[in-house]
Amino acid sequence: MKTKNINNKKNDENKNRIKTTGIVRKVDELGRIVLPIELRRTLDIAERDELEIYLEDDKVIMRKFQPTCLFCGKARGLITYLERAVCKECARRISEL
Ligand SMILES: [Zn+2]
Repeated sequence: MKTKNINNKKNDENKNRIKTTGIVRKVDELGRIVLPIELRRTLDIAERDELEIYLEDDKVIMRKFQPTCLFCGKARGLITYLERAVCKECARRISEL
């Protein structure tokens, strides 16, 4: 059992490891870069999809944007009110105030 736990931990570490693609892209005069089609296909990123951009030390990290509830952080069953995402459960609770 102990060995199995160690292996699971190693698998988790490997899953989060940065994968080198070997692809180098130049930033254009407006600061744009093209995401390689292979990456877009792998991550299901389509034209006009929104990406969130993070900084981690000297790394720029981009993630497909997924709106979440302003109050509880859930990503499912969202409605938009005044351009803010709120889940139906939080909307119901607010309406009961
Ligand atoms: Zn909510």
